[in-house]
Amino acid sequence: MTGKLSFDDLKSRVTEGTIDTVLVCFADMQGRLMGKRFHAVNFVETSFAETHCCNYLLATDLEMATPDGYAATSWRSGYGDYVMKPDLDTIRLTPWLDGTAMVLCDVLDHHTHDAVPHSPRAMLQKQVARLETMGLTPMMATELEFFLFEKSFDAIRKDGFRDLEPISGYNEDYHILQTTKEEGIMRPIRNHLFGAGIPIENSKGEAEAGQEEINIRYSPAMDCADYHTIAKNGIKEIAWMHGHAATFLPKWHHDRVGSSSHVHQSLWRDGEPAFYDADDDLGMSDLMRHYMAGLIAYAPDYTFFLAPYINSYKRFAKGTFAPTKTVWSVDNRTAGFRLCGEATRGVRVECRIGGSDLNPYLAQAAMLAAGIKGIEDKMELAPPTRGDVYEDAKASDIPRTLRAATETLRGSAMLRAAMGDDVVDHYTRCAEWEQEEFDRVVTDWEIARGFERA
Ligand code: ADP
Repeated sequence: MTGKLSFDDLKSRVTEGTIDTVLVCFADMQGRLMGKRFHAVNFVETSFAETHCCNYLLATDLEMATPDGYAATSWRSGYGDYVMKPDLDTIRLTPWLDGTAMVLCDVLDHHTHDAVPHSPRAMLQKQVARLETMGLTPMMATELEFFLFEKSFDAIRKDGFRDLEPISGYNEDYHILQTTKEEGIMRPIRNHLFGAGIPIENSKGEAEAGQEEINIRYSPAMDCADYHTIAKNGIKEIAWMHGHAATFLPKWHHDRVGSSSHVHQSLWRDGEPAFYDADDDLGMSDLMRHYMAGLIAYAPDYTFFLAPYINSYKRFAKGTFAPTKTVWSVDNRTAGFRLCGEATRGVRVECRIGGSDLNPYLAQAAMLAAGIKGIEDKMELAPPTRGDVYEDAKASDIPRTLRAATETLRGSAMLRAAMGDDVVDHYTRCAEWEQEEFDRVVTDWEIARGFERA
């Protein structure tokens, strides 16, 4: 596909002078791109082998704080270095930035050069490798929903994040007229990401004023997570270049619908869909049923990886298309898990729990781990639910707060076995820290409610 470059292609472009900058990046715990901007000549001559970064980058928060309590790094250990090892199979153009290419890195231990176990790419790689030993390839797609705003990030920050105006005046779900008005931003987003080698399928208006969705063609899990991460960063950059802001905060206003990131999942064997069984009414193989049983049973264990912030939990509200229950159904958008493409080779499960703030490496790693457990234990899938699942009192709930999801993560024997105790402890600390930070802040809501009347 256009946009992907081999290392030799990159070298030729650097010699021709059409590329002068290489972004050397990795995905952090929050799913952001972190790294350095290299002069392209330096990159192709030496730094392609490796570069370095401070190891606090995988033990920080959105504010770049240095929280205590991480075993992997600390002030006491001196916050040393990690190796950033460019994965030369990920070199691509970034057409929205002049003369620039990008490469993604794996994060390695400075001394042993082993993968850092809690680095998001390594965590996903580990689960993909487990499936590989079973002869299976996970094919995944993560949808990206976000809101566009009238003003830029900087203007909004200077205004104290108040009086936010989405770019459109009304619910634009599937609207052509309103989305035509946004083509000045959305067309460059689609085309620039496509030009970066990301197989964009389409964009559409979503079910709220100013809300957008981008769909990317399904692909092997690591590609899917790389695409998502680059696309999210690119969308913010392209919106910023046009003087607007794009937010992936799952719930920017309590009266507005939230943004999700649904994850479509299927397993393949030898290039054939292993979830498909032509003899089954719904086209579901036994393998798919076991995978889904694990996915559903362990949803509380991995909810943190789908909803990592305080704000993430504000999205889980009845009647908003954001699910609250860990059940499955056939083409029904009120359940946490929706069967799509039933009775076809495209049969797959869509997890609808994740918010637009999820880190796609972590979310996929955790869900694959749950699915693998379902397959290993030949877990049995309950029958599908029907109707309005929000009102189904028998269906179990997903954890409704970050505090609850932290405890289900901490106590997950499944994730501990699949990912390692050190990794689960690391992310449990990450979750605790987010809660601690929120708990010490006095919010506008408390002041307005209680200042006079309490
Ligand atoms: P929706 O109605 O949820 O928007 P779409 O038909 O647009 O559903 O598909 C959503 C996503 O599912 C797309 O990104 C598509 O590439 C992906 N998809 C299609 N087939 C599969 C599959 N077999 N496995 C995983 N993802 C798939």
